[in-house]
Order: sequence, then C-alpha cells, then structure tokens
Amino acid sequence: MGKISSVQSRISPPTTLSVVVPYFNEESVLCEFHARLTRVLDTLSDTSEIVYVNDGSTDNSQSLVESFSSHTSSIKCIALSRNFGKESALSAGLAHSSGLAVIAIDADLQDPPELIPAMLTKWREGFDVVNMQRSERLGESWLKKKSAAVFYSLLNIMSQTDIPENVGDFRLIAREVVDHINALPERNRYMKGIFSWPGFKQATLPFTRDPRFCGESKWNYFKLVGLAIDGITSFSIRPLRAATVLGLIIASSAFLYGLFVVSKTLLFGEPVSGYPSLMVVQLALGGIQLITIGLLGEYIGRIFIETKQRPLYLIQSYSEKGAVHKQTLSEKRA
Ligand code: UDP
Ligand code: MG
Repeated sequence: MGKISSVQSRISPPTTLSVVVPYFNEESVLCEFHARLTRVLDTLSDTSEIVYVNDGSTDNSQSLVESFSSHTSSIKCIALSRNFGKESALSAGLAHSSGLAVIAIDADLQDPPELIPAMLTKWREGFDVVNMQRSERLGESWLKKKSAAVFYSLLNIMSQTDIPENVGDFRLIAREVVDHINALPERNRYMKGIFSWPGFKQATLPFTRDPRFCGESKWNYFKLVGLAIDGITSFSIRPLRAATVLGLIIASSAFLYGLFVVSKTLLFGEPVSGYPSLMVVQLALGGIQLITIGLLGEYIGRIFIETKQRPLYLIQSYSEKGAVHKQTLSEKRA
C-alpha cells in the first residue's frame, strides 16, 4: 500500500524530472544537444526541468544556453564563477534540481537523451538509482579503454564502496538519494563514488556510449590519473593498510635475514663483500619509503582540503525560465 501511494506521488506534478547538464566550452554541440533533449522531454507526460550548469566556459556556450527555450520544460541556467571541474558543476546542478527523479547527463551527446524514457520506466518500477552502464565505448582509443578497465579493477579492489564498473555520471537518481548526496559535507567530490555510496535500490541498464558529437574531451591523461588517485584515496584507506602490511613483511624478513647474517658471521667470519645486494636492498627500501610517504601525503592533503571547508563552487548568476507552453497531464491526454 505504501509503495503504491509513493508511486502515485511520484507521478503527480509539480516537477517529476530534472535533467542536470554540466557544460564547459561546448558551444559546438549545445544547440544539437538541446534540440535532442527537448524532443525527448516533449514526448513525456511528466513535468520536467533542465538544469544547465556553466562550469566557467570561456566561449559562447552561456549565451547560447540562455537563448534556449522549451515547450514543456522549464530551464534553469546556473553559471559558476570559474571552472570548478565537472564534479563540482554536477554538485551545483543536483543542489538546484527539484525533480522527484534527477538525471545527470553530459552535454556532448555521448549519453543519448533518447534513453531517458527507459530510465524513467525503471524508476517507476521502484528503483532509486538507475545506473547506465557502457557496454561499448565508441570513439575512444584502445589506450583509454584499457586504462579505464585497469582503473576500475584497482578501484574496486581498494575501495570499500562497491562502485559499478563502466558506469559514468549518466544515471537517474531518486529525490531521496539526491537529498542524501546534497547533504554530504565532503569537499572532495568523486562523483562515481558519491553516487554509489548511499546504496538504495539500484538498477543497471546497458547502453552503447556514442562518440563525442564534436569538440574535444576535456580530460587528458594527466587529469585522468589525478581523478583515479582521487577516486581511490577518497573512498578507501586500504592503500594505507597495504603500506603497513608491506612494511611488516619487509621488516620481519629483514629481521630473519639479520639473524642469519649475524650467526653466519659468528660461525664462519665474513670477508667484506656483498656490495651489489646491499645496494639493491637499500634502493628498494628507499623507493618503498618514498612511495609510502607520498601516499601519506595524499591523505594528509585531503584532510587539509577538507579542513578549509571552502564551498564546492561559487555561483555567479542564476536564471530560471518557465516552459513556453506548460503541458498539463490532462492536456497531454486529450
Ligand atoms: N565538463 C565540465 N567541466 C569540466 C570538464 C567537463 O562541466 O571541467 C563537462 C563537459 O562539458 C561535458 C561533460 O562534463 O558535458 C563530460 O566531459 P567530457 O566529454 O570532456 O568528458 P569524457 O566524456 O571524455 O569523460
Ligand atoms: Mg564526453
């Protein structure tokens, strides 16, 4: 009974669906994106809003977005004061969304808006999070696919939160879960982890990820490695545990080996030799120590950033536009 009434409240207005779109210098694709998205939203019998978040674009993207209109959806335009990164832009969008279901989608048309109805159907079946899993990644290099695979397996070995493989930020999240995510106090927003952290009832739909419509990916390998380190260190302390275990193994083997060397010297004496083995052991230990100190630094850096308690993003401007023709449920049915 409770389930039925909650489903009914989901169907009824005001806003059923929010589509959150962070964009950074996407003037070449935004018009096509908006056209495709509104085409899909117009076919829905739900009320919807589009939340565009300008992540400090330096091109013409923002004036394009401000000129957009829609027959059935209202449009919110948020502009951040500079480029804060996609994770922060998404957080801003989630915080300003009001829909009962929220979908995060990239502006470059790699995530096809045509899948939105299928996501809504899953949500209506009672799922709180609908993850969109890339079964194929078109237009991405062999190296990018391979490094993504290595990253996901490493992340899942290391992380205490189960982060689904090949699921990007394209997903549907129910209001209740969005509210929990908005309330998370941490500054380090590794969104793939944050989206998975609350749990709730999850569904996964496979889809083929299209190549970028045009323009360039905003990620280079340098940034991706940074994101991978962020992902692991913000969701797990297992690397620290691994360093401790490694230290224990090395220290106990060194102790045993020390015993062996001392007894051998006492029994048989020791002519001065063994320079190469000494050098190898010293270099290996030096390397391990440096890696471990770096690892500690990563976590201390994270604590440093968290303690500053700076806001995730600053909003420079905000505007809201109603639907040109607000379609009510009864009109739609007539
Ligand atoms: N994006 C953003 N801020 C950034 C980088 C990217 O808002 O600092 C947006 C970008 O405009 C796009 C989405 O995030 O809508 C995904 O970016 P991109 O296509 O460059 O990433 P990829 O698909 O290669 O992972
Ligand atoms: Mg992309």
